[in-house]
Amino acid sequence: MAKGHAPEHVAYLQRYTRDLASRLGLSDWEITVSAEFSGDTAEASTWLPHAQPRATIRLGDCFTSHTPKYQREIVVHELLHIHLNPVNRVFELLEGQLPPPMYAYVRAMYDERQDFALDSLAPHIAQFMPELRLPVLETEEGEEML
Ligand SMILES: [Zn+2]
Repeated sequence: MAKGHAPEHVAYLQRYTRDLASRLGLSDWEITVSAEFSGDTAEASTWLPHAQPRATIRLGDCFTSHTPKYQREIVVHELLHIHLNPVNRVFELLEGQLPPPMYAYVRAMYDERQDFALDSLAPHIAQFMPELRLPVLETEEGEEML
């Protein structure tokens, strides 16, 4: 099994994500779609390093098995996390102020609730975005002919 996404898909998703980012007011951000898969359970994850308008989006290994409509919703969900970055920074102030187990609990609960909220919001915004159509890979065409 491949360890990452097909280069053709990564190149397409990089262009697609830049287009959506500018439509969603994130054109100042340098957003990279990683070829690496995200963690085993996550559909996708977004990593935001400190003090730089940069983000890396990692998509799950099952990303290509979803419908194009849901794939578009996943990309929108990840981009909305970037908009919430200033809110997430509140946790930098809390870290060290709370006992570590309490901090870990509050942080995990906050992350989970943010994902619930973005899952509710993303489809409503995604419907106004261009369709996501991953290029068909050569090997997939070959398999279909067998
Ligand atoms: Zn999320």
